[in-house]
Amino acid sequence: MSANSLPPRRPRVLIAGGGVAALEAALALYDLAADRLEVELCSPHSEFVYRPFAVGEPYGAASILRYDLGALAGQIGASFRLGGIFSVDTGAGQVTARDGEQIPYDYLMIASGARMLWAVPGAVTFWGVADEGGVAGVVRKLRAGILRDVVFTMPGGHSWGLPLYELALLGSTVLAKSGIEDARLTVVTPEDAPLELFGRAVAERMGHLLGERGIEVVTGVHPVEFEGGRLRIAPGEPIETEAVISLPRLEGRRCLCRRRCLRLPGQARGDRDPAGRHRRRGDRLGGRL
Ligand SMILES: Cc1cc2nc3c(=O)[nH]c(=O)nc-3n(C[C@H](O)[C@H](O)[C@H](O)COP(=O)(O)OP(=O)(O)OC[C@H]3O[C@@H](n4cnc5c(N)ncnc54)[C@H](O)[C@@H]3O)c2cc1C
Repeated sequence: MSANSLPPRRPRVLIAGGGVAALEAALALYDLAADRLEVELCSPHSEFVYRPFAVGEPYGAASILRYDLGALAGQIGASFRLGGIFSVDTGAGQVTARDGEQIPYDYLMIASGARMLWAVPGAVTFWGVADEGGVAGVVRKLRAGILRDVVFTMPGGHSWGLPLYELALLGSTVLAKSGIEDARLTVVTPEDAPLELFGRAVAERMGHLLGERGIEVVTGVHPVEFEGGRLRIAPGEPIETEAVISLPRLEGRRCLCRRRCLRLPGQARGDRDPAGRHRRRGDRLGGRL
């Protein structure tokens, strides 16, 4: 067979990530151009984790769902590679994986999500899928009547606020089921109205729902620190309470762009390279930096 009769090579699309964004991108590409592209997903974790149910876990009301990424990718005509991407060299059209392997691409999509950061010192942070039982511990004490006053809060800036309200509402259900009537639940939020992210109609509905459940709402304030039974807020006087559950702050993973070269998540100057060597300012990183 002559070289001319070989079928043309299909453009190779590399998708960095294994969350909703990566899967939706792969799905859309499958719909639009299944037979014309070669698609590969690349993620440091082998599972896709369905997060919305995470809020139910500490209450024993739901379980997190996990799906094998390789199997999901296979269903939509993509392949899967386990491993995080370390750096991107857009000039050479290749990424360097954390294990040092160089992976070529024609098109690259980065869907590596956000980092969750500790937001309120002294509070129990709800990490969702990575929760280590802190919230479940508060719930246990609430159910047992050991805690009578809990604040649910989230930091300003970038945050996904829905779990805040779900956690508080589930808390009120726990109290009702346990026959506890004199406990106080409060939502403290930097928003001007509860769940305002979803628009005015939803905010009003959520406000009513919280009111019906007897959950107090303090809007327009930022949680600062929980210490000695007091949640410091700004602006305003501290709120006395027994426990505080906070959502984390979200921060986009940084991609530093230097002369056609991107550097991925958490790889600040001075970090180690994929082989574990310490990098210095000006070192080459999969391209020219
Ligand atoms: C508790 C909780 C409940 C939620 N409930 C809802 C809800 O009900 N409805 C809703 O719409 N949203 C909800 N969200 C928000 C939703 O989960 C996020 O908006 C969504 O997960 C973002 O998808 P993503 O693919 O951009 O990022 P992520 O889901 O964070 O996925 C990022 C992916 O990138 C991978 N990755 C990271 N670094 C690298 C790297 N260097 N190279 C390659 N891959 C990398 C990660 O392993 C991961 O697979 C909830 C979030 C939480 C925390």
